[in-house]
Amino acid sequence: MKIGVLGGGQLGRMLALAGYPLGLRFCFLDPSPQASAGHLAELVIAHYDDPDALQRFAAQVDLVTYEFENVPVESARQLAQHRPVYPPPEALEASQDRLTEKRFFRGLGILTPAFAPVASLAELEQAVEQLGLPAVLKTRRFGYDGKGQMILRAPSDLRPAWEALGRLPLILEEFIAFDRELSLVAVRGRDGALAFYPLVENHHRDGILRLSLAPAPRLTQELQAVAESYAKKILEALNYVGVLALELFERHGELLANEMAPRVHNSGHWTIEGAEASQFENHLRAIVGWPLGSTAARGQCAMLNLIGEIPKIDEVLKVPGAHLHLYGKAPRPGRKLGHITLCEPTNEALEAKLAHLQPFIR
Ligand code: AMP
Repeated sequence: MKIGVLGGGQLGRMLALAGYPLGLRFCFLDPSPQASAGHLAELVIAHYDDPDALQRFAAQVDLVTYEFENVPVESARQLAQHRPVYPPPEALEASQDRLTEKRFFRGLGILTPAFAPVASLAELEQAVEQLGLPAVLKTRRFGYDGKGQMILRAPSDLRPAWEALGRLPLILEEFIAFDRELSLVAVRGRDGALAFYPLVENHHRDGILRLSLAPAPRLTQELQAVAESYAKKILEALNYVGVLALELFERHGELLANEMAPRVHNSGHWTIEGAEASQFENHLRAIVGWPLGSTAARGQCAMLNLIGEIPKIDEVLKVPGAHLHLYGKAPRPGRKLGHITLCEPTNEALEAKLAHLQPFIR
């Protein structure tokens, strides 16, 4: 069976790496000839909205998935006329616009930060009156890794922020002084079977994920149950098939949904070595219609992102138990180039290993 993947970045590459042992084959579509999944499988170089390329792509695969959530919904719909597309295009639609997404969460009874749409400076002033300061102003679409957003702290921040972002439709969100950021990677099969990985604690710098700890330290059954109840509502409302990631803020023991990604997720990379079946394998099992694999953790894991530069490979590999993943991408500031996973039997052992690796990672 040949899986067509829209997007050929590291997520696609790791999907292929998980799929080959299961006998799957892959074909990627990406506008960049350098797309790193192209080292592993056939790459159709085309824009996501090129109807002829989409048709050629569909003709040579058995089913279609994506590793990039900004694929035009229309393209996913066009492909769905020829081949099964999982997750469903409705999931792309729901997640591409932060306003639609937050309204969707609220409609399901999922807690979110307070928010208001903003289409003019006057509306921004009104929204700030309603939500107070500090607040976070974000573009509704195409934001990722902290791009397209600004924190407003004082009334004098409003006009410059509007001037910087206001050419696009915006959303203002209440600023959440969270205790920590968590994420849940969930998966739903074609038969409706559900599985959830343990919650992960995420640490960002400059809007980019740096470190994930899995399972999240001090994770309680109650917290896990609330996160799973949120994900279950989303998966079932969308008749979803595949892996979905839900990003959450924990504040005073309460979980607020920030955003979802209808795809495998950076905060799930630890599952390659750290769980019985990885998020990549489970995504493939789900979309092909196979039974889901166990999401149980094999120990205490940490995943460190390699951003902007690659450390000396031999220094990393010298640390026993360090699993290095490089994506075959050219170094550039702020770019995700690879990650390292550690999996240890206890938190103490994990902390000791992490301390070994810190010097090689900025
Ligand atoms: P996002 O692109 O929405 O995932 O935001 C990137 C990062 O900005 C998040 O991981 C948080 O660290 C921070 N952030 C986003 N929204 C809020 C908010 N409403 N309150 C506080 N911090 C936020």
